[in-house]
Amino acid sequence: MEKLNASIGRISPSLTIALTAKAKEMKSKGIDVVNFAAGEPDFDTPDNIKQAAIRAIEDGLTKYTPAGGMNELRDAVVEKEKKVNGLEYSRENVCISVGAKHALFNIMMIMLSPGDEVIIPSPYWISYEAIVRFVGAKPVILPTKEENGFVLDAEILGRGVTERTKLLILNNPSNPTGGIYSRKELEVIAELACKHNFWIVSDEIYEEIVFDGYRPVSIAALSDDVKARTLVVNGVSKTYSMTGWRIGYTCGDADVVEGMIKLQSQSTTNPTTIAQAAAIEALTGDQSSVEVMRKTFEERRNYIVEQLNAIDGISCFKPGGSFYVFPNVSGVFGRRHGNVTVNGSMDFAMQLLESENVVVVPGVAFGDDRFVRISFATDMDSIKRGIEGIKRFVEKLQ
Ligand SMILES: *Cc1c(COP(=O)(O)O)cnc(C)c1O
Repeated sequence: MEKLNASIGRISPSLTIALTAKAKEMKSKGIDVVNFAAGEPDFDTPDNIKQAAIRAIEDGLTKYTPAGGMNELRDAVVEKEKKVNGLEYSRENVCISVGAKHALFNIMMIMLSPGDEVIIPSPYWISYEAIVRFVGAKPVILPTKEENGFVLDAEILGRGVTERTKLLILNNPSNPTGGIYSRKELEVIAELACKHNFWIVSDEIYEEIVFDGYRPVSIAALSDDVKARTLVVNGVSKTYSMTGWRIGYTCGDADVVEGMIKLQSQSTTNPTTIAQAAAIEALTGDQSSVEVMRKTFEERRNYIVEQLNAIDGISCFKPGGSFYVFPNVSGVFGRRHGNVTVNGSMDFAMQLLESENVVVVPGVAFGDDRFVRISFATDMDSIKRGIEGIKRFVEKLQ
């Protein structure tokens, strides 16, 4: 008998983590590395949230809660979705999970059967594809275009839909591209979902990290019909700089939510009680830190996009949200660094790291080899040094 089952054989470890390991190794040798690979905000968790966790411990909130989360937190999510997105849910529509990634995993575990197809617009967040494969369903990757702001085109979506299409994963704003869907673009997608009867998972984890005064629209808010078939996934990791606390949530169909809670009751039980108490404070307490972080991200975005576009051979789409830029570096493909010809995003990333000690994530990890992902969840000084490194590297190429 095989030691490991087929499910685990279908997925690979995260490339981001491999790159981070290489950067750490260089750092431990005393090399000054600029890390543009970070997938989490560089701010500390706001103090009011930390204090709520400390109070929870002192008040003895240290035991199991219901598997789907504390009622108070589920109600706080209901309130938040109403206030921010105009979505009306009740407690039965909300499941609290161990981060948004856990929520996505549970949704796919309980909804997908072998052979079901899941549409994922590319470039995409790596875990979507991995989870779909893990549960034995089939990822159907549909390309988006840089010149359309990395938004899924209705015609391309229409061509990707089959009788086996079970769900579509939308990430709005997107990691890695920072693309945002307009109401109009969402309306066309919603129409297709209703017509062809598939579900939508709307990952809205970057909803508060948006720029130029823009507010993203949740696809679930477009009509009752689309709301009934949409699972809104969100969490506190990005908005409140709480990645390590592991609290995410799902809002949607009560049967799906009940299924998720059943799975959690037999696997993880409840998300950490103390972190749930902190998440209540995050969602219901003072929101001023959210705007401080948002503004800082916007300043960094403005700087980084301008600087990248000034480099010959690189073009950079200006993201409407998230803390990533996704520049197209294919303009330098075919040029050489020493003995190595840069023929793809992995070559670009490896040669850049070796030459200038700057870590970027190759776009091939997100399904498009022409790009690299640069995270600006790092301080301005590192951003400046990193950009200078990229500029020197590109100018050095022959
Ligand atoms: C960070 C991230 C998540 C997961 O966040 P959690 O920490 O698990 O809540 C989900 N989706 C995208 C696109 C992300 O970038």
